[in-house]
Amino acid sequence: MKVYEVLIEYTSSNLDRLFSYFYEKDDPIQLLSRVIVPFNNKLVCGVVININQVNETKEEYIKKTGFEIKNISSVIDKEPLLNEELANLSLEIANYYFAPRISVFFSMLPPSLKPKLSSQNKPKIAYESFVKVIDNNIDNLTKKQIDLLNKISTQQTIKKSECPTSILSSLIQKNKVEIFKKEKNRMFFETIEKTEKLTLNEEQKECFDKILNGTKDTYLLEGVTGSGKTEVYLQVAEEIIKKQKTVLMLVPEISLSYLMVKRFMQRFERVAILHSKLTPSQRYDEYRRIKQGQVDIVIGARSAVFAPLENIGLVILDEEHSETYKQEDQLPYYHALDVIKMRQKYHNFKIILGSATPSLETKSRALKGIYEQLYLKKRINNLPLPKVDIVDLTNKNNISSESALLSNSLIEAIKNRLTNHQQSILLVNRRGHSPYVSCRECGYVIKCPNCQVALTYHYMNNKLICHHCNYEVDMITKCPKCNSNKVFKGGFGTEKIELEIKKIFPEARVLRLDSDITRKVNLTNKIINDFSNNEADILIGTQIIAKGHDFENVTLVGIVLADIGLAIPSFRANERTFNLITQAIGRSGRAKKGEAIVQTYNKNNFVIKTACRQDYMSFYATEIKLRKLLNNPPYTFMCLLLISGKKYDEVEDASDEVKRYLQTKFNEIENVFIVGPSEMFIKKLNDLYRKKIILKYKDYNIVKPVINDLMLFFAKKRNLSLIINVNPHEDY
Ligand SMILES: [Zn+2]
Ligand SMILES: [Zn+2]
Ligand SMILES: [Zn+2]
Repeated sequence: MKVYEVLIEYTSSNLDRLFSYFYEKDDPIQLLSRVIVPFNNKLVCGVVININQVNETKEEYIKKTGFEIKNISSVIDKEPLLNEELANLSLEIANYYFAPRISVFFSMLPPSLKPKLSSQNKPKIAYESFVKVIDNNIDNLTKKQIDLLNKISTQQTIKKSECPTSILSSLIQKNKVEIFKKEKNRMFFETIEKTEKLTLNEEQKECFDKILNGTKDTYLLEGVTGSGKTEVYLQVAEEIIKKQKTVLMLVPEISLSYLMVKRFMQRFERVAILHSKLTPSQRYDEYRRIKQGQVDIVIGARSAVFAPLENIGLVILDEEHSETYKQEDQLPYYHALDVIKMRQKYHNFKIILGSATPSLETKSRALKGIYEQLYLKKRINNLPLPKVDIVDLTNKNNISSESALLSNSLIEAIKNRLTNHQQSILLVNRRGHSPYVSCRECGYVIKCPNCQVALTYHYMNNKLICHHCNYEVDMITKCPKCNSNKVFKGGFGTEKIELEIKKIFPEARVLRLDSDITRKVNLTNKIINDFSNNEADILIGTQIIAKGHDFENVTLVGIVLADIGLAIPSFRANERTFNLITQAIGRSGRAKKGEAIVQTYNKNNFVIKTACRQDYMSFYATEIKLRKLLNNPPYTFMCLLLISGKKYDEVEDASDEVKRYLQTKFNEIENVFIVGPSEMFIKKLNDLYRKKIILKYKDYNIVKPVINDLMLFFAKKRNLSLIINVNPHEDY
């Protein structure tokens, strides 16, 4: 008799173990296939992880184990969900990130294949009917029937839907043709004309040779936008494919990487695309094409790192510094590069990390020689970098009389662009109208009841919205505390700048892009297209507008307040701000000579100064010293322990307890640092109080078992939870 050990679909960490079931029907069950099982009086989906042959009868076995063992109700898959490599990978990720293994399966698989009960309502394989000829003899056929038979015969097969129904059915009746089904791909690829490869310049050629012939397994390809990284990717990929191997290409966000995807489609035939904005049927179809070995290249966002490619010869991580490569909105909190390195052990491929501003971790590894450092220093089109002016906002004389938020020089520059029919971009890295609303009489600030953070005023719908849990209420006219009507809208966001700009330039055509808008995908594409087509003069937006897009007619970028990100209590705040400013400035002058105006209260801050000079190396040199001084990555590895619960006292006590426990464990050990407990930046989120402890260490193997013990300890606690985030990006 067989006992099936099943992982069920709940992601709670105390259910992250195997449950035993019998199966009494005859059809075989494959390892790693989905089954429906009874669990707590409900039917749930699960994955078969082990199948054990036992000698006892069912009754004997139940008696022996002392557990009631139920039967699997039904079997979903006829074949395993994952091959051996990916199955082992799921285990490695679960262990490395302290995540329930089922959550790893969720990240790895498209909606139709996720081990969830709800996946059964997701798209299945679609078929299309075709007609083919089985008998060419035209005796006793009508003229119309002969015509159709000839048509099918010359085209070999033809879609059933293209044949007139009545003529077709008589041909079928006479055994002249037959209908057969083929899998249909619901992915839509626009027809793209193929292009020839470009001639590499000297720098590109050198990088190309080193990647293909070098002995290192990872290459940092560092070069500003426009230096020709893509052509190097394309030509290395071509060589790899010639050797019958496959290529995985990751981009930060597919919607921002349209040009990159297009260039790959222009060069290669067998390409699949994977990202979360595809429909579930498209994701399923693309996934199956990859699994069946029908593609050479997969291009996709973060989760494409799990593409079921065989025989991978090359992985490209474009814009490797991008934070979108770290998943932190759901378990597992994995980083694509960590997963790539895990897969590398199996496939033995080469990795290219591409960036103009590499992450501090990557750059330091390249400087140490762990990665091979490659440079592309020339811009292909020889355009100079934009001219950057820093405006000191502490000097009142610089502020315009028309708006307290904009400087004279920025307004002049916009005016100038409007006259010359050129476009401007204004970066405002905060959405909404005003980030807080308070009472001028008593000082009361309107806060979210769930999160204890100030609510943001939104002009668009006259609401106060929490940007952390989406709680919303109507805008107030009177102070809820003292009833005064002196309600004050503090600070500014994209909406307020939009209003100011429209007031100053009533004739200008203004568009706004921020995540209040990008939630509607179609609108995002429309705004980007309209702006590209010169149907607007000014685009105002958050960091979304700083990334990726090439707007040829933009010759001015204004950064309304460069300091916004610097105040966030994260060790990555400087790096993030540097990247944002350099990227934003880079939007100016893609095709013509450009200019950027950066408004700041901190004109001497090294982040602002180096970013405005587009001087990555100077930024790196200073920032890396700070990292060393504070024992932050890349000098250590980091792990965030987030303790949360409904009662503040319990959270506080538990945090102190964790701290004491860690201290006893790491007391004598060098190079393990415990920081905290301290409040999270958002102290209370979704009605849960949150405290954090940060562990910094050099050797993961020393801290891992201790964290494991803590996880087990917390699994028993009812009102508290412990979330582990390894190498966190949101560490605040
Ligand atoms: Zn908002
Ligand atoms: Zn008041
Ligand atoms: Zn909230």
